[in-house]
Amino acid sequence: MLLKELREQVVFYGNQMIKSQLTMNTGGNISARDRKSGLIAIKPTSKHYELLKPEDITVIDIDGNIIEGGYKPSSEWRMHAAIYKKYPRVCGIVHCHSIYATAMAVADEEIPLINHELCMYCSEPVRVMPFAMPGTDQLGDSALEGMAVGNNVALLKNHGTVAMGASLWHAFDAACALEQAANAYFIAKQMGKVHVLPEEGRNKLRTYDPLMGEDTGGEGEIRAV
Ligand code: 13P
Ligand code: ZN
Repeated sequence: MLLKELREQVVFYGNQMIKSQLTMNTGGNISARDRKSGLIAIKPTSKHYELLKPEDITVIDIDGNIIEGGYKPSSEWRMHAAIYKKYPRVCGIVHCHSIYATAMAVADEEIPLINHELCMYCSEPVRVMPFAMPGTDQLGDSALEGMAVGNNVALLKNHGTVAMGASLWHAFDAACALEQAANAYFIAKQMGKVHVLPEEGRNKLRTYDPLMGEDTGGEGEIRAV
């Protein structure tokens, strides 16, 4: 079986998405890229995360051709491929419809850099990108536009979120960070007080890699951009 380890990761983090309430039913999708071959292990379209086994995960090339697997790849493979094309060091992508972040994407409300989790993955506040139909190249363009400011995450208008990282670990961590920040921001706004992190702290956090547990000084895997 091709990309056995990455297919196992896709199954594991797919289940984590359900458990962490980042998505429900068959919504959202995830993928991991093999650095050596460039092949991508991606969730098949419209399948329940909990039922997937590693052999059910589809392996595609960067142009969407199926290399191995019995199911059609996620309908969002174009967005995944567009991100992998632009960012050679990115090897993991999570797309989901988590509630608070999606609420921000519906309200067209940017999320400021309010907590350390988000600051590890973002250089700028997370703005909402223009609406594009699901499954189109235009959705990929919106995702890239949102990330181009030096962020690992983006908000997709009236749809949800996308997060990328050097590994699926980082992409999933970034997706959680975005949802957590959106949730906290929503509550803080009701309380009438929102304070952003001081700039010095933000700059330091942007090069801190939570997987390594250390500041990489910008050379590590955390940015991958
Ligand atoms: P797929 O089931 O095709 O991955 O689509 C889910 C989704 O989130 C579409 O935007
Ligand atoms: Zn979606």
